[in-house]
Order: sequence, then C-alpha cells, then structure tokens
Amino acid sequence: MTDRLARQAELAERYLPDDLLERFRDRAAVYDRENRFFDEDLAELAERGYLHLFVPASHGGPGLSLDEVSQLQQRLAGAAPATALAINMHLMCTGVAKAMADRGDHSLDGVLTEAMAGEIFAFGISEPSNDWVMQDSTTAAVPQDDGGYLLRGVKIFTSLSPVWTRLITHGRDDSDPQNPTLIYGFLERDTPGIDVSDRWNVMGMRASQSRATILTDARMKPERVVRRIAPGRVPDLLTFAITSNFQLLIGSVYAGVAHRALELGAAGLRKRRSAKSGTTYAEVPESRTRLADAHLDYLAVPAQLQAYSRDFDELADHGARWPLLLVSARLNAATAARRCAETALMCTSGSGFDDDHELSRLYRDATAGLFHPPSADAARPMFAAALLDD
Ligand SMILES: Cc1cc2nc3c(=O)[nH]c(=O)nc-3n(C[C@H](O)[C@H](O)[C@H](O)COP(=O)(O)OP(=O)(O)OC[C@H]3O[C@@H](n4cnc5c(N)ncnc54)[C@H](O)[C@@H]3O)c2cc1C
Repeated sequence: MTDRLARQAELAERYLPDDLLERFRDRAAVYDRENRFFDEDLAELAERGYLHLFVPASHGGPGLSLDEVSQLQQRLAGAAPATALAINMHLMCTGVAKAMADRGDHSLDGVLTEAMAGEIFAFGISEPSNDWVMQDSTTAAVPQDDGGYLLRGVKIFTSLSPVWTRLITHGRDDSDPQNPTLIYGFLERDTPGIDVSDRWNVMGMRASQSRATILTDARMKPERVVRRIAPGRVPDLLTFAITSNFQLLIGSVYAGVAHRALELGAAGLRKRRSAKSGTTYAEVPESRTRLADAHLDYLAVPAQLQAYSRDFDELADHGARWPLLLVSARLNAATAARRCAETALMCTSGSGFDDDHELSRLYRDATAGLFHPPSADAARPMFAAALLDD
C-alpha cells in the first residue's frame, strides 16, 4: 500500500469507522422521515474531532488537507448525505481560513481558534434571485459609526440552521452610490435581528435543515468584518478560497452519493431473479451494461476531485482556469449522483422505489445537486467563453 493510501485508510478508521457509518445510515432514514436535524450524528462527529479536521497544528488541530477532507466527506456522504452536506458548511469555513493562512493571509485565523473552542460555522450567502451569488448581494449593509454594519435581507438555504453559532455572510453597502462595496464578515448567533424561518419541507437532504435566515438590522461588529470588495468579478483571496472549498467539498458529497448508489444497484441486481433467464439479474447482460456505464461515469468524478484538491493544497496556480476546473468537478459529481441513483433504481426495480428503501432517499438527496451555484445553465457561458472568446 502506498503511503497515501495507508494514510487515507488510517483517517477513515480514526474519524469514520464502519460501525459509526452504519449508525449514521440507520439514523439518516429517521431524520429524513421525521424531517429533523441530525443532532445525534453531530454529537458523534464532534466527539471524534471531525469539526476540527482543517484546523492546523498551530491552533491545536490535525490540519488535514483539502484532498484528505474531500475523501472523508465522500465516505460520510455514502452513509448520510444530508449530514455530510450540512457539516460541509462548517468544514468549508475552517478550510477557507486554513487556505488563506497557507497563502500568508491570517485575517481569518480567529475562525480556527473559535472552531477549536466549539463554535459551529455556517454559510449564509445564497439569497433569493441573486444569481451573482458572491459577486453581489441583495442584503443591505448599512455602515455604522464604529466601523460595523447593520444587515437587512434574506439568506436562503442556511444549512445547520438549528445549531450554528457563527455565520459567514455578506451584504452590500450603497452609502456611496459611486462606490458600492460588498461587506463580508461574521454574525454571532445571539445577535438581535436574526430569525430562522420555520418553513423547511423539501424533497431531499432534509436533515440539513437549511432554513432561510432573515436579517433585520442584524449587527456585524467591526471586528467581525473581514473584507470590503467591489461588486463584480474582482479577484480576491477570500472569494477564491470560498469557491475552491465550496465546489470541491460539495462535489465530494455528491461523489459519495454516486458511489453508494452504485453499491445499492449492484446489490439489487444480485438479489433480483429473472424467471426468463433463470438467473439473478446480475447475470443479465443488459443489466450489467447499464450498471457498468454508470460506474464508468462515476470513476472520473473522484479522480477529478482529487486532482484539483491536491493542486489547491500544493498552491498550484491555474490562474483564470481555476473556476472552470472547480465548477466542472462539482457539476460532474452532481450529475453522476443523479445518473447513478437512477441507474441503481432500475437495478433494484420496484423495491428501491419503496419509500423505506435507502435508494429512494438517496435518489431524492441526489436531486438537491441541481441547485448549488452556479447551476449548469449559469456555468455554461464560462465554459464556452474559455474556448470561443478572446
Ligand atoms: C440542500 C441544500 C443546502 C444548501 N445549503 C446552503 C448553505 O448552507 N448556505 C448557502 O448560502 N446556500 C446553500 N444552498 C443554496 C444553494 O447553494 C443555492 O444558492 C440555492 O438553492 C439557490 O436556489 P435558487 O436558484 O432556486 O434560488 P432562487 O430562485 O433565487 O430563490 C428561490 C428560493 O428562495 C426562497 N425564498 C425566496 N424568497 C424568500 C423569502 N423572502 N424568505 C425565505 N425564502 C425565500 C424560495 O422559497 C426558494 O426556495 C443550499 C442548497 C441546497 C439545495
């Protein structure tokens, strides 16, 4: 076994041993059915130090690389996709702080200290009808005399809504109409003016409890402001670090879903018998071909995630190609998850369609991959322009 594979196996055993994953898988069905948050999973993850994965030794953590965390997240998502998707948001915030420190910017080191002290970070960026996502905001950031801001707006799909204690978010300061500015920073949970929507009844990833967050003059303290950036496509280390961690870790979740769907598809073919052929469907050529094609699609996905994660860890400079690489890895992973889940359903046939079957939930969870930004439609112009425009 190579050093790398041995390390991967050791990390899997330390943070996500098989018996833990089995408990998560059993509970995922319950959380989904009852539409409730994954409290017990979170407690067990926290106890194992999973919330500190990215925190470097300088701050008392194990300092895992993005590649290593990506592999763990794939493993976790194979058992409990919604738990993995939601905990991603906390991991991403700490991963961003580590990535910035690795590049000499220590402005987010406080995130690492607070994560070690038990704070839980969430990601409050998405807003209704803001397809600029991080490059603009419909949330008003009204400057205060002390250098802080009052935030007024709605953030949609805030995963970890029942438990987060720190929210990375952004708003737009229009106090100088000639120079609008995006304000990035953190809100503390006990700040007045933060309300969590009581509505959450979605098709998949239900345990993530990604409820909307309503900000009514919620105060971002001056010491919690981390960036002031002009709107639009303005290069910045913070937004680059967020994009990299976001795309690759979200992609990791859907890669894990795709892999688990293939396992369930294979189990389905082995179990079902064909009266016509007198064998199980595992020996029926059409069924084997269908599963083989999905497997082929899947195998490119972890390879792509790994290549770009390692490049990111090694500070490789892909320049203007970075967004293409990162977004393609996440889109391909989400597409593979949906394709593998559909293929697996065809392999299990009617039993997988039963609401109590794991595949039924996995299929719904995979569907959430359609909605992470940028969507395929929003990303296509970027891929076309890279080849066609000067
Ligand atoms: C499972 C899951 C978890 C996610 N987790 C996060 C996360 O942690 N952080 C994050 O920033 N993004 C998160 N996202 C958001 C995601 O990345 C997209 O940005 C989002 O799905 C964009 O959806 P859209 O394009 O359909 O939104 P749009 O079409 O722009 O907006 C429509 C959505 O906004 C809701 N909405 C509109 N107005 C209001 C209002 N006034 N109050 C409440 N809700 C309103 C609608 O119900 C609808 O769901 C998550 C998405 C999913 C599917």
